[in-house]
Amino acid sequence: MRIIILSRNPKLYSTQRLVQAAKDRGCDVKVIDYLRCYMNITAMKPTIVYAGKDLGEADVIIPRIGASHTFYGAAVVRQFETMGIVTLNRAQAITRSRDKLRSLQILSQKGIDLPVTGCAHSTKDIEGLIKIAGGPPLVVKLLEGTQGIGVVLAETKKAAESVIEAFRDLDANILVQEFIKEASGTDIRCFVVGDKVVASMIRKAKDGEFRSNLHRGGKGTQIEITEEERAVALKAVAAMGLGVAGVDILRSNRGPLVLEVNSTPGLKGIEEATGTDVAGLIINYVIKKAERATQVKEPMDS
Ligand code: ADP
Repeated sequence: MRIIILSRNPKLYSTQRLVQAAKDRGCDVKVIDYLRCYMNITAMKPTIVYAGKDLGEADVIIPRIGASHTFYGAAVVRQFETMGIVTLNRAQAITRSRDKLRSLQILSQKGIDLPVTGCAHSTKDIEGLIKIAGGPPLVVKLLEGTQGIGVVLAETKKAAESVIEAFRDLDANILVQEFIKEASGTDIRCFVVGDKVVASMIRKAKDGEFRSNLHRGGKGTQIEITEEERAVALKAVAAMGLGVAGVDILRSNRGPLVLEVNSTPGLKGIEEATGTDVAGLIINYVIKKAERATQVKEPMDS
């Protein structure tokens, strides 16, 4: 099996673990910097080239596209799809998951519970926006933010108005969200591979912080999730059309609420917290997916 991992940095923990897991299973694996790929967009024979070499021989790709390169990264993934090469996550699903507003709209359409969320373009509508989110305290989020950057807790109406105004003056798109106080600075990361939650951890924010992101100093510990949480996580991943994803859930008084679905979830935090060989499970999953695709393409002689 020939696997390409689309990653900018072969030294990253997640990339290294995937490479090792692929080698352990006898796969021929390459790490390719997707920003260095160029493509020939044609109906006849679409190609993708890296350092002068055609990458058309791959069986399957594993995209690990960074948030700041979603546009070009997704275009490269789409080119592989056009060439009939199987991908762990499809370009469209990656692009969708990177847009917080679009993701929440898709999830809510599928009946998945979320924190009450509002969005507006004009600062003339701040009053109404704050009302939608149930009044202060509330959370203001940059649409394009990741790793907790651009997620602000506004405890009073005045603070909420100032933050919203400041972000909008910078022309940043924002969401305003009800603050789930009872989550007490924790959230649950469910790691989904195919149709299973293969590992889950509770992340706790450091003292004085409400954001539990590991990049913001949060700590992850293995946790047994409820059947309801499992079902919600799987439903969210299916709604987004992803094969592998990290689903972040807040435990609220009215049940599990999905915060976001991450299409390039990091492996370090979850493997360290749970001791699960997540990389191995991802490689098993892509091998099966690629084998199934070959069987469909090449029906047995009758
Ligand atoms: P990012 O995509 O940048 O990680 P998130 O929306 O996941 O942004 O928010 C970062 C963290 O902030 C979450 O992991 C959670 O701990 C906390 N958080 C976010 N939204 C809320 C909310 N509505 N209520 C309570 N805590 C929240």
